[in-house]
Amino acid sequence: DEEEEKLHILVFPFMAQGHVIPMIDTAKIFASRGLKVTVVTTPLNAPLFSKNLRRSFPSIAVETLEFPAAAAGLPPDCENFDVSMGFDAVTKFFVAAEMLQSPFENLLAETRPDCVLADWFFPWTTDSAAKFGIPRLVFRGTNFFASCLSELTRIHQPHKRVGSESDPFPVPGLPGPPVFLSIDQMPVIDRLLGGETFVGKVFERVAEAESKSYGTIHNTIYEFEPRYADLYMKELGRRAWSIGPVSLCNVGIEDRASRGKESSIDEHSCLRFLNSKKPRSVVYVCFGTLANFSDPQLKEIAAGLESSGREFVWVVRRETNRGGGGGGGDDSWLPAGFEERMEGKGLIIRGWAPQALILDHVAVGGFVTHCGWNSTLEGITAGLPMVTWPVTAEQFYNEKLLTEILGIGIAVVGVKVGSGAVADAVGRMMAEEGEEAAEMRRKAGELGRIARRAVEEGGSSYGNVSALIGELKRDLRRRGK
Ligand code: UDP
Repeated sequence: DEEEEKLHILVFPFMAQGHVIPMIDTAKIFASRGLKVTVVTTPLNAPLFSKNLRRSFPSIAVETLEFPAAAAGLPPDCENFDVSMGFDAVTKFFVAAEMLQSPFENLLAETRPDCVLADWFFPWTTDSAAKFGIPRLVFRGTNFFASCLSELTRIHQPHKRVGSESDPFPVPGLPGPPVFLSIDQMPVIDRLLGGETFVGKVFERVAEAESKSYGTIHNTIYEFEPRYADLYMKELGRRAWSIGPVSLCNVGIEDRASRGKESSIDEHSCLRFLNSKKPRSVVYVCFGTLANFSDPQLKEIAAGLESSGREFVWVVRRETNRGGGGGGGDDSWLPAGFEERMEGKGLIIRGWAPQALILDHVAVGGFVTHCGWNSTLEGITAGLPMVTWPVTAEQFYNEKLLTEILGIGIAVVGVKVGSGAVADAVGRMMAEEGEEAAEMRRKAGELGRIARRAVEEGGSSYGNVSALIGELKRDLRRRGK
């Protein structure tokens, strides 16, 4: 019967919000295209998305594996990866993640899926899938440009020949305009390759496992970066399917509001604030789930937003991180009287914001972002120009894509950014007059339209999902299943 014929895919996201969110979206996309989908996670991660799934995709099953935090020397409730936990804890987190291999294989034996889609941070899943004679797809939640930079620096090691961490060097083998990097702009992952640390070794295996896998799923759109997509697939010889933007699978308000976690603000009061504003007048400021700014830096951002004269929604993670529990309390990080002066003009969200909902609102006209790829792509999809403020990981690569290749970003430079620089960048992005802002708005609008077309029937991402499913089914038949 029909149930029997459904291809069963097991989706296994790495335990960090920036990885879980797009993979849950991807799980929904496969479910909506007729696949049987099982998501694998840990007990403390499951509640972050299971309610959302039950509401709109009740057919998706969720299986949990105990996370061996304590066995790896982590606090027992540490099931979410956070770079700010320090290198020692990061190492332990990867040790714990590696320990999931045997329980994961037990689960494969029980559930017998036809295919595994596992995060690129789980290199060993390629071997696990091979033991069961099934393909492992890699979820690489990034774009082709960043993947090319990682791959080319891995192959050519240009950073081994520079004098200091901030010396710029050109990336060899890249088509189009030359792109310069410095070591301090490279993700630790790329810098560590060939290194002797545990994490360095994991990432060597990540690259190896990826090349032995069935192929990668990229959360991007071919038309955004055809040059780099072609380089990645044709010259570097990688099998890859771009299926983004995956966020667009969330259609209803509820689904978009509760992507990742329940919001710290009632989505309706957030929408009320935005509904009262003129189209494209509000700046949205958010630095993702991991970036931690110091109190003095937060104060500079506040002062910068105030002096820009623009209305804003600003997401601040401070209290959730430092044990404040989100309950008001200590506001010494804000300039004196800030919230009273900004009443009705600026909305501060302490904790988790319904970002997908906010970015798509007509009142929002620009996005100040840390350039995490999910946020970046959500910004592009919403047709927004951006102020780019990368902090870590491959965020500097994404910034270059926005500012140098796509032409829709204004870079904020420096480790410490003063209020003047914040106000200046926001002013340039939101300017009603002048060529620069108009040109960025035009390009961003066009990219947003391309993104929406890509996931519709006939679009490139939609077609790639069909092609991938078709290939998996053909392979399955060939193997006599
Ligand atoms: N996000 C959100 N609300 C927040 C902060 C983040 O919904 O308050 C979502 C955001 O929409 C994105 C993800 O969390 O999908 C963050 O991923 P990204 O790659 O941008 O950054 P990371 O947190 O991994 O650095």
